[in-house]
This record gives sequence, C-alpha cells and structure tokens, in this order.
Amino acid sequence: MKISALLREGRTLFSFEFFPPKTDEDVRHLLETARTLKTLNPAYISVTWGAGGGTRRKTLDLVSTIKNDIGIESMAHLTCVGAGRRDIDEILEDIHRRGVENILALRGDPPKGAVAFVAHADGFLHADELVAHIRHQSDICLGVAGYPEGHPESPSLDRDLDCLKRKVENGADFIVTQLFFNSADFLRFRDKTVARGIRQPIVAGIMPITNVSQVKRFTTLCGAKIPAPLNEALERVQENSDAVVQLGIDHATQQCRDLLKEGVQGIHFYTLNRSHSTEKILRRLQPRPIPT
Ligand SMILES: Cc1cc2nc3c(=O)[nH]c(=O)nc-3n(C[C@H](O)[C@H](O)[C@H](O)COP(=O)(O)OP(=O)(O)OC[C@H]3O[C@@H](n4cnc5c(N)ncnc54)[C@H](O)[C@@H]3O)c2cc1C
Repeated sequence: MKISALLREGRTLFSFEFFPPKTDEDVRHLLETARTLKTLNPAYISVTWGAGGGTRRKTLDLVSTIKNDIGIESMAHLTCVGAGRRDIDEILEDIHRRGVENILALRGDPPKGAVAFVAHADGFLHADELVAHIRHQSDICLGVAGYPEGHPESPSLDRDLDCLKRKVENGADFIVTQLFFNSADFLRFRDKTVARGIRQPIVAGIMPITNVSQVKRFTTLCGAKIPAPLNEALERVQENSDAVVQLGIDHATQQCRDLLKEGVQGIHFYTLNRSHSTEKILRRLQPRPIPT
C-alpha cells in the first residue's frame, strides 16, 4: 500500500528505519527484529540506500522480504550517488517487479573527504530532479527528506525550504525529516512549510540516543543540534551505557508526546537496527498511539 494513502487515514503513523547489514547472519538477525517489531504494528519499515550506492541488492531484497514475507509495508531509500538515468530506471523496474510501492528519493551525501556532491554524468545533481524523473514515468509513492534545522550545505533554512518546495512540486507525496532533538525546531519547520503552501504530510524523524559518541558524530554530520540540557545530562551519564540508553528512551518518549499533542502525522524511528529503545518508547505511549 502507498504510504500516502496510509497518511490520509488520519491517524498518527509509526514507522521504523533499518540499514542493510554487512553479513548474512546480521541480515537474518535484522529480519528477526522486524518480526519482533511487527507486534507494535508499524505502518511501514524503510531500508536505507548505502552511502556509496553499493547496497542496491541488499536494500531491495530487504524491502521485498519485509513486505512480501513478513507482511509489513516497506519503503526503499534511493539516492543519486553514482547512478545515471538508466541505472535509476532499472532500479525502478526492479522495485515495481518486487511489488514495493514506496521510495524515499534522495540526493545522497558526497563521498568521504569530498567537498561537494558530484552528479553522475547522466544523473541528477539534486533530489528534485530525481523526483521529477521518477514521477514522469511512475505513480509510485515518493517521500523526500526535510530538515527542521536546515540542510548543512544550505545557507539558510528558508533557502532549504525553497528546495523542499521544488521537491514536492515535482511530485513528492510526503516528507520525512532528519532527526532532531528539540520538538520546537520541528514545529517551526512545519509552520514554515505550511506558510509556503507545502501541503504534503510531514513525518517526524526521531532517533533514540543509545551511545554518546555516536550521537555526537551523527549530529556533526547532519547538522542537528543537541540542546544544552540534554547534552549536559548525556555528559553526566556517558560512562554508564544503560543510563545513556534510558536517557535516550526518556527524551525520545517526551519528544513523541509533544509531537502527538501537536497532531504530528507520522513518527519515523531511526532504529539503527535495534528494537529495544523503540519498543520501550512505543509501549510507553500505549494504548492510544499504537494502531490496532
Ligand atoms: C529521512 C532521511 C533519510 C535518508 N536516507 C539516506 C539513505 O538511505 N542513504 C543515504 O546515502 N543518505 C540518506 N540520507 C541523507 C541524505 O542523502 C543527505 O542529507 C543529503 O546530503 C541530501 O539529500 P537530499 O535528498 O535532502 O538532497 P537535496 O534535496 O538535493 O538537497 C541537498 C542540498 O542541496 C540544496 N538543493 C536542493 N535542491 C536544489 C536545487 N535544485 N538547486 C540548488 N540547491 C538545491 C538543498 O538546500 C540542500 O542543501 C537521508 C536523509 C534523511 C533526512
């Protein structure tokens, strides 16, 4: 089913994100995690596209298995990295053949060490071009990325919102945000999208913190801020891994509560392939938000 149709049903959707593991053993383990999370009734699970574009088969196998064997709706992330138009068309055909109905259309990041993103000679420089190309030939449901604190390459949030608007005008059906830790940033972003006439639903990206150095690395890369009180709390417990996980659960639960109160249309958990924190958060939010 298309995620856009699920979003139109009007209840808050909960979804999970996985990345393709390296070994077959880890893939098996991940599929077990998906089966465990099925009891929480996720609206869909998305699977990332490897940073260098090298996980094509694994990403597509996983979204296909999650949908067709486990019975959870799925979405494949897809980036422009190293891909020309013909590659994208082949991938699109493959996705259709597997019965997958949702794609998160992204530009991707420049390779490690590179200053700027370089498009494939026959490819796309920005996600809006990828969206237009796919939309021209398919009615598949398309999500795109949004950045509550602005994309790190963008000179301002307003300029970044102009680019987001182009993505939805070119055919995107919904927006999934980058992770953020301050719900006020998300709400400000949502207000600004509405002010620009963007009507597509926005799904909030939430990452339960499980490791202090990891979250610092991620936030440096993606430009999200850790609010000072959260940062201080993390520094106080950073030597105690259980306490860090607990703090991550508490903070993410509070974020979800704030967002639900504000009528958010979807919450997408960056699970980092682990179920523990996400499961705890959703159980705490029960009984209301878990769809039956
Ligand atoms: C929900 C989510 C999932 C993600 N999943 C993956 C994944 O699976 N694999 C992966 O490798 N990466 C993933 N990323 C990271 C993403 O690839 C990077 O954030 C990347 O740097 C930007 O991708 P984009 O699709 O937002 O690009 P774009 O929308 O192209 O934006 C990139 C930058 O260019 C600017 N821009 C956009 N369009 C134009 C234009 N027409 N003219 C001038 N400037 C423009 C924007 O303001 C922004 O600064 C994900 C990000 C999010 C938020």
